Amino acid sequence: MAPAAPAAAAPNGVPFAERRPPILPVHASMNRLFDITVCLRPFRAQGPRLDTEQVGDTLVVHNYGHGGSGWSLSWGSGTVAVRKAMANSPKEIAVVGCGAIGLSSAILALEAGAKVTIYAKDLLPDARSARATGSWTPDSRIALTDKAGPQFPVLWEEMARTSFKRFRRYLGLADSPVEWTDRYYCSDPGTSFIEPGPRGGLDFASYGERIRDLTGHAEPVPPGATPFPTARVLRASSMQFNVADYGHTLMADFLAMGGRLERREFHALGDLAGLKEKVVINCPGYGARALCRDESITPVRGQIAWLIPQPEVNYGVIYKSVSMLSRRDGIVVQALWGGDMFGYGDDHEVIDRAEAEKAVATLAELYGRMKG
Ligand SMILES: Cc1cc2nc3c(=O)[nH]c(=O)nc-3n(C[C@H](O)[C@H](O)[C@H](O)COP(=O)(O)OP(=O)(O)OC[C@H]3O[C@@H](n4cnc5c(N)ncnc54)[C@H](O)[C@@H]3O)c2cc1C
Repeated sequence: MAPAAPAAAAPNGVPFAERRPPILPVHASMNRLFDITVCLRPFRAQGPRLDTEQVGDTLVVHNYGHGGSGWSLSWGSGTVAVRKAMANSPKEIAVVGCGAIGLSSAILALEAGAKVTIYAKDLLPDARSARATGSWTPDSRIALTDKAGPQFPVLWEEMARTSFKRFRRYLGLADSPVEWTDRYYCSDPGTSFIEPGPRGGLDFASYGERIRDLTGHAEPVPPGATPFPTARVLRASSMQFNVADYGHTLMADFLAMGGRLERREFHALGDLAGLKEKVVINCPGYGARALCRDESITPVRGQIAWLIPQPEVNYGVIYKSVSMLSRRDGIVVQALWGGDMFGYGDDHEVIDRAEAEKAVATLAELYGRMKG
């Protein structure tokens, strides 16, 4: 048999198999900044609340406290909640909340055969979920390692796998509500792409190894294979949620399946017993702190600087603790100074323009070093 031909290489020596579509620059300048948004991650050290509670004659199934993982875990967490809600086959179910968690729970409850009404103060475009990055990050600030309890990693894995499989349905649709893209992790010698903060920090749970078969590792990119100027470049492929379109798709699906929406604000958990539905899935996100008087919820503030969309840019970058993700609805630029501790305990939903400018300037510095 003839020996295999050596892999063809491009003029710069990059093996053919490593070549990718061109990496085009993000125009990281302040005059392309068209919005700044702020959101609070509903973090619970013990992981999301998924227990049930009897409030008067109403069964309340809690489904809140998903930290930085709400979009990613939504279908898995909703599946757990709907299983509990449907235990006695109710004909009608109420869902409190119209964010990532409420909408997915409501769609799953419809699929399980119930008539479903969502009651919420804000519908998705205005709910906090709309101000998330939109990455597959199922264990981002989801719990603390020593507080989550021995059963939680198993439950987490079940939720992550269920969600992952469900997202398969939203791939390949016309406006790409969900798609796979590459992330580049860039660092210079003696630095890390996310620098740990000076405060030391908490031991946030990390369960990625449990689902490594789903997403794979970030791997070093051969020198010259990308225009990134740093000595070290890692690449991983990951799912992203184009939140404007994905959220719109979820709302449309819910309504098309016969779901009802009603704007309503509740002031105490006891108010839920006044609903005509006697089974309620409670998905108020950070709102649970006030609604359920649940102080186990800690706010973790996160801000996004939005640059004008560039459809030709189809990747994300993390460099000097700044994350960039190119979405169809905007280029999401976010500071992560100090890693997971950044914003921890901070409930100020006020725009910090200096933070946005510094994050954009960091990106501008990266692209300024690139030769193309
Ligand atoms: C900056 C940032 C980036 C993030 N990036 C990602 C990411 O890339 N991937 C990921 O998976 N997750 C990410 N997250 C986390 C994710 O956004 C949250 O976990 C998720 O949005 C929580 O969704 P939710 O539906 O529980 O809450 P919310 O979106 O806050 O929805 C709560 C709903 O309940 C309603 N509600 C609340 N209180 C009441 C009340 N008293 N009466 C009536 N209605 C009420 C609200 O109006 C709303 O409709 C990010 C978070 C932030 C802040």
